Amino acid sequence: MYRFIKDMKDNFDIRNNNIEREFESTLRPEAFVDFRGQNKIVDNLKVFVQAARMRGESLDHVLLHGPPGLGKTTLSHIIANELNVGLKITSGPVLDKPGDLAGLLTSLETNDVLFIDEIHRLSPIVEEYLYSAMEDYRIDIMIDKGPSARSIQLELNPFTLIGATTRSGLLTAPLRARFGINCHFEYYDAKVITGIIKRSAGLLDIPIAEDAAKEIASRSRGTPRIANALLRRVRDFAQVKGDGHIDLKISQYALEALNIDKFGLDEIDNKILTTIIEKFNGGPVGLNTIATALSEDPGTIEEVYEPFLIKEGFMKRTPRGREVTDLAYKHLGKIRSSDTGTLF
Ligand code: ADP
Repeated sequence: MYRFIKDMKDNFDIRNNNIEREFESTLRPEAFVDFRGQNKIVDNLKVFVQAARMRGESLDHVLLHGPPGLGKTTLSHIIANELNVGLKITSGPVLDKPGDLAGLLTSLETNDVLFIDEIHRLSPIVEEYLYSAMEDYRIDIMIDKGPSARSIQLELNPFTLIGATTRSGLLTAPLRARFGINCHFEYYDAKVITGIIKRSAGLLDIPIAEDAAKEIASRSRGTPRIANALLRRVRDFAQVKGDGHIDLKISQYALEALNIDKFGLDEIDNKILTTIIEKFNGGPVGLNTIATALSEDPGTIEEVYEPFLIKEGFMKRTPRGREVTDLAYKHLGKIRSSDTGTLF
């Protein structure tokens, strides 16, 4: 399914990219009440935001981590809205010079939020500058080079840094330690995703039946971004092949036509399971061995793919390594070699 999303993305021209972004921002919840799921995170944040507002202080720095498309950017917008402060957005790879960071930090007003996406990709030098900014609202900048080089200290307004990452394992310990609030995003269950689809359909004025919303939700990999993207594609089928109304039949037809996996697994999920079955006889097998066989990064498998496969019961973590379950064999139409006496 990621392939489908990626193909969609690759085929888009700039205009379409803008439409896609506009679409995402139309559907982006703006207040805590509209943000579904992740209840523990939201309940805690509500308290911290209210306390910060009561004291007139900036909210403590927040680290949001979890797989892509689960609402980290959305929640950052909501936090800034609920704090009633300004929000500046950037990302780790974009901030490659300390001067860029200094420019951003000095433009923040009292208690504003600075959102850094992909914070694990900050360059070490920029990260170092961020430490004093986060801790003391102060930044030392070197100006000039050679013998006339000197450092000047810039005082900053108190601010909240919200860092988002899909790969929290890559964050350095000193950076991680500077976040007072640490939130881990989990995949959404189908019920919550069904609610998100119904809300999006309402906002886009698309009539949708309950069972159709459930069907799309079950194939959305527990991810709101995928759910919204699928809704949009199914809407196209409903308009062209039906009467514009999304019912169960048209959604099943569309999802089949789009080749969307019945359980919402994407190409890499299926590749991981197939590799463990075909090359390692179902496991147990170590993470690094799987990663090498797939030419993937072990951390990405561990932090981005594996949690969903484990949550949905396709894979288990055992003391001896990763093992696939009977459900994975069934899903991929494979038979355990121990059942047949043959090897794959
Ligand atoms: P991330 O930053 O984690 O990659 P985003 O915040 O960009 O994810 O979310 C992707 C899209 O999914 C957003 O446009 C938003 O409309 C939708 N979304 C994410 N989380 C939720 C939620 N909890 N409730 C409703 N919609 C959501």
